[in-house]
Amino acid sequence: AAEEGFDLEDVEGAIEAAGHGPLPVLAVVGRPNVGKSTLVNRIIGRREAVVEDKPGVTRDRVTYEAEWAGRRFKVVDTGGWEQDVLGIDASVAAQAEYAIEAADAVVFVVDAKVGATDTDEAVVRLLRKAGKPVVLCANKVDGQSGEADASYLWSLGLGEPHPVSALHGRGTGDMLDSVLEALPEAPEQSFGTAIGGPRRIALIGRPNVGKSSLLNKVAGEERVVVNEIAGTTRDPVDELIELGGVIWKFVDTAGIRKRVHLQQGADYYASLRTAAAVEKAEVAVILIDGSESISVQDQRIVTMAVDAGRAIVVAYNKWDTLDEERRYYLEREIETELGQVAWAPRVNVSARTGRHMEKLVPAIETALAGWETRVPTGRLNAFLGELVAAHPHPIRGGKQPRILFGTQAGTKPPRFVLFASGFIEAGYRRFIERRLREEFGFEGTPIHISVRVRE
Ligand code: GDP
Ligand code: GDP
Repeated sequence: AAEEGFDLEDVEGAIEAAGHGPLPVLAVVGRPNVGKSTLVNRIIGRREAVVEDKPGVTRDRVTYEAEWAGRRFKVVDTGGWEQDVLGIDASVAAQAEYAIEAADAVVFVVDAKVGATDTDEAVVRLLRKAGKPVVLCANKVDGQSGEADASYLWSLGLGEPHPVSALHGRGTGDMLDSVLEALPEAPEQSFGTAIGGPRRIALIGRPNVGKSSLLNKVAGEERVVVNEIAGTTRDPVDELIELGGVIWKFVDTAGIRKRVHLQQGADYYASLRTAAAVEKAEVAVILIDGSESISVQDQRIVTMAVDAGRAIVVAYNKWDTLDEERRYYLEREIETELGQVAWAPRVNVSARTGRHMEKLVPAIETALAGWETRVPTGRLNAFLGELVAAHPHPIRGGKQPRILFGTQAGTKPPRFVLFASGFIEAGYRRFIERRLREEFGFEGTPIHISVRVRE
């Protein structure tokens, strides 16, 4: 490395940064208007714009990456929910419940100027029940004089209230220090601890694509009572199902069952739920209704799973209803709309007739294998050397940036760090990704490639 002009420390740092496992998840919960979105903006440093908060605007994006004091984590923003649909208490409770379920730690935001309300107390009860670490944020303490308001919140029984002004940034640093103490180094669902346990599948897709039908079909009579198996979680939202002689854990199946009382406003809850399920899973089986046009909502769900770095299988359901014409158009739509997961194993199924159910497990296994693939450094560099020699980067400004060497920093999903002598264009990065896939497989998995440029 040193001969190529990179400092060994830089190289090690880059590999370490790229090789992180799944990130711990922080949920920000609280009543409407206490300042959750403002706080999330502050935590993520506004690097990612949170969509403006207008009542009735449904937000699909609910998780963001953040970093504080060199540690990275994910933030689940619950500021986008629709308060008109349900009563306030029910909405706040439902929103908090979903978010807490997905989180490793929670920031509970209270408006210190208003003080603790009955709704706040209700959330406190949920938090107690969940038993996750909580950091209490007494928000809207814009100056010294507000500190007294914050101290009243000791009465909530959640420990020290952190006086914060999300708007001006006052106190947020101290609060984030406490957040880091509350967050585990690696998330609870850390893949390392799951070795030997059942693999975790999230069955996701927009409403009515057939998730519950598929779950019922594959579970059949084989549905396992979770408590009967020693050492497995008693989380009632997860279900153990035997498929192809192997027990799998379908996570968050409660989200698949119909929640009748959430009819309107269900989109937002559905995306929160999907995000939670994806965070808990190793592999996402994305169900798409083959009888209908592929929608923006389908694409958003795909993006969620890709961004989360999960192994992915795409299942086209309701195949029994597709005539020849629809099949023709479906293929065209898949090409144009779902190019981002062209590498994912695909199955055409019918939850109604049971068609191709037996293909589901092999597809899932293929995706998990791709997700866990590790390319030895020697092989990777032999491959990169040949590739760069045969297809050099286009010359820019009289210079030719070169990939000097690379390494795979992590798996689940595969993460690569490439070291280069100059800026590598997006097109060339995509080319490298394509060739990596041709050479090493990676079927069913996103791959991350980061490029370090020699100073
Ligand atoms: P959410 O509904 O909980 O996401 O709340 P928002 O983040 O949308 O904030 C609600 C209102 O409170 C907005 O008008 C914010 O500008 C305001 N607000 C948020 N944080 C603070 C703060 O620290 N101090 C003051 N004075 N206002 C704040
Ligand atoms: P979910 O909202 O994704 O859980 O979808 P459901 O499982 O509730 O299914 C929605 C509707 O699609 C129901 O009326 C199902 O009977 C129907 N459905 C599900 N799978 C199939 C299928 O493979 N073929 C046909 N024809 N209908 C299906």
